[in-house]
Amino acid sequence: LGALETLCFDNRFAQLPAAFYTRLAPRPLPAVSLVGFSANAAASIGLAAEEGLRAEFAEVFAGNRLLTGSEPLAAVYSGHQFGSWSGQLGDGRAHLLGGVRTADGMVELQLKGAGPTPYSRFSDGRAVLRSSIREFLCSEAMHALGIPTTRALCVIGSPEPVIRETVETAAVVTRMAPSFVRFGSFEHWSALDREAELRTLADYIIDEFRPQLRETPEPYAALLADVAARTAELIAHWQAVGFMHGVMNTDNMSILGLTLDYGPFGFMEAYNASHICNHSDHSGRYAFRMQPRIGHWNLYALGDALQSLIGHPDKIREIVDRSYVEHYDRKFLALATAKLGFAGVEAGDADFLGETYGLMQRQHLDHTQFFRALSALPGNPSRESRAHCDAPLRDQFIDRDEGDAWLLSWRARLAREGRDDARRQAAMRACNPKYILRNWIAEAAIRKAQAGDFSEVARVLACLQRPFDEQAEFDDLAALPPDWAAGLSISCSS
Ligand code: AMP
Ligand code: MG
Ligand code: MG
Repeated sequence: LGALETLCFDNRFAQLPAAFYTRLAPRPLPAVSLVGFSANAAASIGLAAEEGLRAEFAEVFAGNRLLTGSEPLAAVYSGHQFGSWSGQLGDGRAHLLGGVRTADGMVELQLKGAGPTPYSRFSDGRAVLRSSIREFLCSEAMHALGIPTTRALCVIGSPEPVIRETVETAAVVTRMAPSFVRFGSFEHWSALDREAELRTLADYIIDEFRPQLRETPEPYAALLADVAARTAELIAHWQAVGFMHGVMNTDNMSILGLTLDYGPFGFMEAYNASHICNHSDHSGRYAFRMQPRIGHWNLYALGDALQSLIGHPDKIREIVDRSYVEHYDRKFLALATAKLGFAGVEAGDADFLGETYGLMQRQHLDHTQFFRALSALPGNPSRESRAHCDAPLRDQFIDRDEGDAWLLSWRARLAREGRDDARRQAAMRACNPKYILRNWIAEAAIRKAQAGDFSEVARVLACLQRPFDEQAEFDDLAALPPDWAAGLSISCSS
């Protein structure tokens, strides 16, 4: 692993025509310091962990110093926000530094919060420490959970004041992804009737990231089907783990099917399918149970934008419906049955899942603790040992009789497969995390960081990098929200 100066840039997005972006340098911040650093993310682009400790590192990822070969730019895009067309948006507070080639392919580095751009509209181009820590921790947590996502290299803080509901301070998070192109990047050119640019962008994505689609009879139709499939599988992952994005606008939907743009996100705690994690979402458009439908809707918006490349709207609808629904149903069923400890999918499992989520809803079961406790139960306990074995799960039920009845059906289903307990339990632990980024955990790390102590950011990151492992030293981070966190509310403010 090498040093910062050895990063070798290959800026493919910057080679697109000038209409796709505005080249500009980040705006410097005073007195910067390293708040958070992911050695895992650094290693994925060939950087040594010690790099994070150098003063120069904070200068570079605050946007104060440009690396040789970097060609910073802000990209233009448009999008639908909360179901309405918003017209032009764009990177209002993001600077793409450029791309780095790794053994696993292209990784683009992007600063978020490094100052205004021509797309900032009426905002300041900054991000506050609070939301930057949330994005940093959640990106790396999602990656460790095995869910497609942009990653985060580091958070750099500065005492520079930033005005939100109160005066906060500035931070910059460095995000990493093969590409940050969004559904809205395509909608932008379609809305302007600029077919040449639309085609250029589709060709760029196909040639850089999906070259196998070039061999199909209709590459653009194949691209739409590919995005629909990946988005469906992404949202199946979100539903299975209990992740709520909070702002599924089309400008926040990655064309590569990655979780993109961490704002007022949340993880399900006491199960409620109608939960709305974003307090600015008054109608509940992006409530947990709506996410699969919204993903589908967003694909219609993308399909509509690609119409001049693909053809008749009926054909587009057919591609989206078929690819999205099929991939969503299959992926969710596979993920959810695995969480219950089933080796394969049987007829009747979809109904049993319905009963399971109904139980969770009625009993307000903590999504993460329920599946984790279930993972430890024996499949066929003796009459004498049952009460003792089942206690950790039974203690979560409000109505124990209902819980016991459900456990009987669960065990009957397990018995049909007859899998060995130890193997099944290990498989369940490997897909039912013990540790997720609960709001209270992020908030505790944020409050310490706001007081100048970044140790909790590092501790939470270390824990969430191994979400499936028992880690005795982090047992406090598997707990339900403490009393002080009862009134936490997360809005769009960032
Ligand atoms: P979001 O809802 O976070 O996806 O942001 C929607 C749009 O607003 C994007 O174009 C962002 O770049 C832009 N934006 C959000 N916050 C700011 C900010 N503080 N300064 C400039 N642009 C912003
Ligand atoms: Mg956004
Ligand atoms: Mg955002």
